[in-house]
Amino acid sequence: MLARKEGSHTELITIYVPPGKQISDALNLLREEYGTASNIKSNVTRKNVLDALVRVQQRLKLFKDPGEKGIVIFAGALPQEGGGGPGTERMETYVIVPPEPIKIYLYRCDSRFHTEHLQEMLREKETYGIILVDASEATIATLQGKRLDIVRQMHSGVAGKTRAGGQSARRYERLRDMQLNEYFTRVGAHANDILLPIDTLKGIILAGPGPTKYDFEKGDYLNYQLKNKILDTIDTAYVEEQGAKEVVEKAPEIMRKVRYIEEKQIMQQFLYEVGHDTGLITYGEAEVRRALESGAVKMLLLSEGLDLLRVTIKCSACGYQEQHTVKVPMLSSFEQGLVGKPCPKCQAPSLTILDKEDIVDNLAQLAEYSNAEVEIISSETEEGQMLKNAFGGVAAMLRFKTQS
Ligand SMILES: [Zn+2]
Repeated sequence: MLARKEGSHTELITIYVPPGKQISDALNLLREEYGTASNIKSNVTRKNVLDALVRVQQRLKLFKDPGEKGIVIFAGALPQEGGGGPGTERMETYVIVPPEPIKIYLYRCDSRFHTEHLQEMLREKETYGIILVDASEATIATLQGKRLDIVRQMHSGVAGKTRAGGQSARRYERLRDMQLNEYFTRVGAHANDILLPIDTLKGIILAGPGPTKYDFEKGDYLNYQLKNKILDTIDTAYVEEQGAKEVVEKAPEIMRKVRYIEEKQIMQQFLYEVGHDTGLITYGEAEVRRALESGAVKMLLLSEGLDLLRVTIKCSACGYQEQHTVKVPMLSSFEQGLVGKPCPKCQAPSLTILDKEDIVDNLAQLAEYSNAEVEIISSETEEGQMLKNAFGGVAAMLRFKTQS
């Protein structure tokens, strides 16, 4: 949600304060930025940047130190969604304590929020193994997020394909096969040693120039658990580090393909339940929410890019609160509809929006309470499109039947 937000000008503040950094240092930096921003020529931009900087400082002052994980703050004047153009901006502030320690100390003033370091953190948990083999060399590497580690490199010691004069062709061929077998066994043993203990290992990409990688794949050189994790076998021009970099370049595409296959499988399971009327699924935001609250959900399925918000409204007279699900483009008219509307409890016309949350976060939080799995399904597959269009983008597979 934050990544999608865009300011009208260069006026959105992002700050990452890593663990170990003094809050006072960050406050000093913001004070300096405040001084610089006072020179901005445009009145509107200057005011927005200064306001945002004040907000960030206020929030930061609430912390004694950045804690074990660090603190990320986003603030800025944002056009309100639903066709809100210039003039509809409202100050929004977000304080995030990330799931893992932040490694950078970053300050940016831009027309967008810099969320990429947080997003990377979410992806980084998964590790991919890379095995590059050709007849003369092998390389084993791991890829975690954007971090590539070359863990081991080996020479094959296998003789070239052309024999020296004087040797019998068949004898030479046999000798070479033996050497290759010994070499593959060695590569397999190293790969097992390195990759088997990685419990976040998501998959393996086998690569290299020429057909040697296929010979390696066919033989039983890799532990079966690793063999089952081979996602793809691809051609590269090189082995060694250069080859590993080629794999990294192609990796996003491979992972996307693998993810689509997973998504298709999940959705086919869901559609099977629908088709066989097993009663073990439900869909629609309200129904799924009810199932989540009763702990019946095994797996929550959400379409990527759902444009729904869970909005909490509050009566400022009596404190009464209620929640509504609102489409993002309808938020402005929803808010206008509150003006003059009597509170259901005290009748005072004092209802205002207290809080709004992306529906994905809201439902994922509920899922977490009941230990349900959460799958975000893209609309890149036919099945993903169905989830979005035929089931409203919110569905669930259930642990047990619920009365409907
Ligand atoms: Zn009230």
